[in-house]
Amino acid sequence: MPATSPAQTPKPADFAQRLLNWYDQHGRTDLPWQQPRTPYGVWVSEIMLQQTQVNTVIPYYQRFMARFCTLAELANAPLDTVLSHWTGLGYYARARNLHKAAQVVMQKHGGQLPNQFEALLALPGIGRSTAGAIMAQAFNQFGVILDGNVKRLLCRLHGIDGWPGLTKVQQQLWPLATGHTPQQRLADYSQAIMDLGATICRARQPLCHACPMQTDCTTWQQQRIHQLPHPKPKRSIPQKQVIMLVLRDRQKRVLLQQRPTEGIWGGLWSLPEFATPKILQAQLTHMGLDATPGQWMNPVKHAFSHYKLTIAPVLLITDISLNPVSEAVPQGWFKRQQLQAIGLATPVKKILLAQWD
Ligand code: SF4
Repeated sequence: MPATSPAQTPKPADFAQRLLNWYDQHGRTDLPWQQPRTPYGVWVSEIMLQQTQVNTVIPYYQRFMARFCTLAELANAPLDTVLSHWTGLGYYARARNLHKAAQVVMQKHGGQLPNQFEALLALPGIGRSTAGAIMAQAFNQFGVILDGNVKRLLCRLHGIDGWPGLTKVQQQLWPLATGHTPQQRLADYSQAIMDLGATICRARQPLCHACPMQTDCTTWQQQRIHQLPHPKPKRSIPQKQVIMLVLRDRQKRVLLQQRPTEGIWGGLWSLPEFATPKILQAQLTHMGLDATPGQWMNPVKHAFSHYKLTIAPVLLITDISLNPVSEAVPQGWFKRQQLQAIGLATPVKKILLAQWD
């Protein structure tokens, strides 16, 4: 079925007014970053919300803000401490960029988050939509938001075909999002459009009967709600396997290595990895250990966006002084209670806690 022209759907002023009327009655006004609404708090929340839903973000946000009360505290904190407060939230590049951006703000903007769109966009980890959201939410200035919720809403409202991640679809969505954005009540509007997408125009089972846009919604009129937006084209996801060595001494300390800052789990602490049992055995011999691997633990599976990983952990308890597993990477022995102070990927934390139980 051909998509309806965007011109047939609500005109910008009407759209914004209807949305704000809905927001005044049903919108979320008690989110922790709304009370009080500060530029720093809005920024942290927007970064956390980039890949994560509101309910998951809330406890992380509260812990993060309790530890890094100000932008200066964040900038001055060790990256390890920042990552430890991000452990479990995933997409750790967000935390590294947030930390780096805080340092840039201290150096270039006198510790104040800039209130210009271009200056925000120049900071690490801030893209077009996030910069727009910060402009609107933190400064009540014109800023256009096009996050996942808003993309879904606009695709349905205007009957736009294609997966929203495609450039050609986004080229249709940005002008629509810009045209709908009013000149006033920017902070409320940006929260309202996210809320409408998240709570009414939901991915599954949207609540069209409660939607203020229903009478003008192309997809609703065409009864195609479950067809739009188009899903991401399926591709086969590669499977990878890795062995992780849980080397534990008689004091119950475990050897961890810090990963390079770029790449998967960048900057987090992890267990030494080996591609095959043979390579593991060669390393154990090099370390002066019996080449017999220790006890194989239950495998742990983890899904990244671009591949699936199966980790085979092997536990080896030792009481001899060891050569380092690698001289090229930072490493150290950690007790259970020290884990709270370092950044760990969720599957690694799971393995560590299982071997200590
Ligand atoms: S009517 Fe339904 S599909 Fe259309 S915008 Fe509202 S909730 Fe989404």
